[in-house]
Amino acid sequence: MIEGTVIKVSGPVVSAEGMAGSKMYDVTKVGELGLIGEIVRLDGDVAIIQVYEDTSGLRVGEKALCLEQPLLLELGPGLLSSIFDGTQRRLTDIADSHGDFIIRGVTTDALPRGRKWEFVPAVEEGAEVVEGDIIGEVAETHHISHKIMVPPGKGGRVAEIKEGEFRVDETVCVLEDGTEIKLMQTWPARVPRPVKRKENPNIPFITGTRILDTFFPIAQGGYSIIPGGFGTGKTVTEQTLAKWADADIVIYVGCGERGNEMTEVLAEFPSLIDPKTGVPLMQRTILVANTSNMPVAAREASIYTGITLAEYYRDMGYNVAMMADSTSRWGEALREVSGRLEEMPGEEGYPAYLATRLADFYERCGRAVCLGSDDRIGSITAIGAVSPPGGDFSEPMTQNSLRITGAFWALDTSLAHRRHFPAISWLKSYTLYMDQIKEWYARNVAEDWKELRDKAMSLLQKEVELQEIVQLVGPDALPDFAKAVLETTRILREDFLQQFAFSDVDAFCSLRKQYLMLKAILTYYAGLEEALVAGVPLRQATEHPIKNEIARMKEIPSEEAEERIGDLIQRIRTELRSLGEW
Ligand code: ADP
Repeated sequence: MIEGTVIKVSGPVVSAEGMAGSKMYDVTKVGELGLIGEIVRLDGDVAIIQVYEDTSGLRVGEKALCLEQPLLLELGPGLLSSIFDGTQRRLTDIADSHGDFIIRGVTTDALPRGRKWEFVPAVEEGAEVVEGDIIGEVAETHHISHKIMVPPGKGGRVAEIKEGEFRVDETVCVLEDGTEIKLMQTWPARVPRPVKRKENPNIPFITGTRILDTFFPIAQGGYSIIPGGFGTGKTVTEQTLAKWADADIVIYVGCGERGNEMTEVLAEFPSLIDPKTGVPLMQRTILVANTSNMPVAAREASIYTGITLAEYYRDMGYNVAMMADSTSRWGEALREVSGRLEEMPGEEGYPAYLATRLADFYERCGRAVCLGSDDRIGSITAIGAVSPPGGDFSEPMTQNSLRITGAFWALDTSLAHRRHFPAISWLKSYTLYMDQIKEWYARNVAEDWKELRDKAMSLLQKEVELQEIVQLVGPDALPDFAKAVLETTRILREDFLQQFAFSDVDAFCSLRKQYLMLKAILTYYAGLEEALVAGVPLRQATEHPIKNEIARMKEIPSEEAEERIGDLIQRIRTELRSLGEW
């Protein structure tokens, strides 16, 4: 260990001399309390340390102890259901032993050492294993089997393999070269975990939310940003995604600005029930939380901790959803530290490397063939919330995120005010994944899925133009054909796009049901147009009670949709036709 002396303290940035031999990003314990930090710059024998704890009271002359290792995370059984801080300290354990406020300098084992896990081997003595191979399993929670893998860079012939109950730090397998494999491995948070190769993201990340799956889908292994102004439904959307989206594991990284923002999440998540299994959602979730009494610099570390945990479960072959709320707070941390390091500021004071850092982070997501001889595929899909100050999307954090991410789900304050939920704007949002995943939809949902989706989208865009005209000249001046468009888009908005997150039946909508609902609405529109051509007055057509059935499609359970909405689609045309003669 290298011992230096603190010579300067500037908020979370501390300089220490006598640190020759230390490396960038080495973990350093600063001062008598042993505050945790990482070296972010080296200048001669002076190391500049970004400290993740409050530095008040720290004096010049106190010592700084470089541990000569990067921020290592413990990866093994016991991660699920845990709540960690940005440096992987267990917040629940700290609360039990020290009360609700983190005492500075406290260290904890990330994985509980007392607990024993039943290890079931999957290989025999003499077997040849390579990095990433699964040597056995542990039932981590009811539904998640934790694969014990040969750590990256290791491999060889199995000399010994055990079976039975073990603690995370006990050896379960020994290779011929003496390598001991434990239930747990460690990994530096800032280094991406290796994969064999990245796969094309051409399978959709199904969320069960109609506006997302039908209009702005992302791919498994893709990334999307969601700007979340206050009260627009950011938390509800994230929880809905955590519950319903097509992911085996959920990693939620919270960098709240105000303490209670994170408290809400910490209080709510543990009470959520996983609708797919009926057990608490936490059994497949890890929370990484930055509490408000930690300095902003700690947010930086939490993003890397979160993505490393996600990569570890991806390596097992799981589909992981990572939610970062909010990446803007992380950007602010970069800005603060960069300012204190007196770096040349870029746009709005953010460091010039903001874009590269963001890109590096999102680059770690994706769908990949994992290490190991069995070619298993895992994915990390990231949803990053962004909170642009004043809702101004032109600020650097939103703009830089937009440049990198493949989809943008814009939460709209005016929709939220009108209680249109989810308040995701269909006019401002976009996705770049459409070309990659439309094939999948055509094969697995319906051939004409894309066609219907585009048609509905163009009607919704037309609605904006028509509404402008209505504002100028009043609704009566519109021809009936235009009114038929408005009638259809009203149905699209109210009966398709609106989706109540707390409804038992409607919180999740299967892709096939989404398609059938859209088809019913567009069949209705085609029927209205036909009626108009045949001379039937629009009012007469729109007063037909079939419209009420369309409005109630949401209440049809997904498993009955095929039959009931299928039947409705058949009847829409014939019933509208019965109004006139065509
Ligand atoms: P934010 O986290 O952006 O401040 P919330 O997620 O707490 O906002 O949402 C504010 C309120 O909006 C919620 O309490 C809820 O009543 C309503 N809401 C948001 N999204 C939905 C939804 N999909 N379905 C029903 N209500 C919603």
